[in-house]
Amino acid sequence: MDSIIWNPWHGCKKYSAGCKNCYVYRRDGSVGRDASKVEKTKSFGLPLERNKDLQFKIASGTTVYTCMTSDFFIDEADEWREDIWRIIRQRSDLEFIIITKRIVRFFECIPLDWDRGYDNVTICCTIENQEQCDLRFPVLNSLPAKKKTVCCEPLLSDIDMRKYLNKDILRIIAGGESGKNARICDFDWVMNIRSQCIDAHVPFFFKQTGAKFIKDGKLFAIPRKLQHAQAKKAEIDFLC
Ligand code: SF4
Repeated sequence: MDSIIWNPWHGCKKYSAGCKNCYVYRRDGSVGRDASKVEKTKSFGLPLERNKDLQFKIASGTTVYTCMTSDFFIDEADEWREDIWRIIRQRSDLEFIIITKRIVRFFECIPLDWDRGYDNVTICCTIENQEQCDLRFPVLNSLPAKKKTVCCEPLLSDIDMRKYLNKDILRIIAGGESGKNARICDFDWVMNIRSQCIDAHVPFFFKQTGAKFIKDGKLFAIPRKLQHAQAKKAEIDFLC
């Protein structure tokens, strides 16, 4: 199944430890753009755009990663979000993945007809360390959504999420940090999360090693192009 990225707005404010080396800031900084300025993009209405033959440009069944150069729940976008929910409702044939660190804003940001959630929306909460796990995981567990996942990326510490894991969580993703200032990711932390997932019967996916990876006490510098491949090579994904 195809996937695309849809950025209805661009720009973000740093929010927690995981944001320190944010790739949006890195990329924008390299071209002299101010990443902290949150602006609507030309792609705002992309899912409803049609070709000359009047077919939607985004084919039915596509997975749409939404707001990858911002945060869907950032307060600067409050006045635009209702239009985005309308588009998401209209394109019920697409699967929208919403990844956020601002899960605590969820109830302020959902549309009136959300009820138990839209069938075509996955809420993915990012958790980078124990502090954010204890803060965000209970919120994620408390909110109504048809599909919930957790992304521990960049993984910055060992995390004990045992008391929060449950069958409503469709998948835990783990990965290290990229870039020249990347912080260390330790394979033991990854394996610890994996073992918690196995115990709780929650699928686990090791997405990437990051640029600085410790395994068996040894620090490895992993080039960007190998970070996903090295994670795959570990063969530690867990499917229930
Ligand atoms: S929330 Fe995401 S996009 Fe925003 S600053 Fe943090 S890492 Fe960057």
